Amino acid sequence: MRKYLFARGFRYRKNDKRLPGSPDIVLPKYKTVIFVNGCFWHGHTGCKYFVWPQNNADFWREKIQCNIERDKNNYDKLKQLGWNVVLVWECELKKHRRDETLLSLISQIKSTYNPEV
Ligand SMILES: [Zn+2]
Repeated sequence: MRKYLFARGFRYRKNDKRLPGSPDIVLPKYKTVIFVNGCFWHGHTGCKYFVWPQNNADFWREKIQCNIERDKNNYDKLKQLGWNVVLVWECELKKHRRDETLLSLISQIKSTYNPEV
């Protein structure tokens, strides 16, 4: 995904720890951050790669619930700082969906870009 963005002329920083949640990709020019979320750890609702574990169900529920809360907090903070937050799920980067995902990613990045400002 990074190679794809780079090849299309997007310049970015990786894992920027100065920003809430240290986003995987930061595109300063577009005021956009991208998170690539694992479907299990970040609780991708409705995703076939995300099922609640049967063993230690309470433990996992709490752990994943906690990740989801933390994610949400970070996204809110970033939005308040004026960032456009884009989420990409791991399942969306699987071979058969990748092209579609990357195209929509580009349009999401560009949609908020206003070179006049
Ligand atoms: Zn998923």
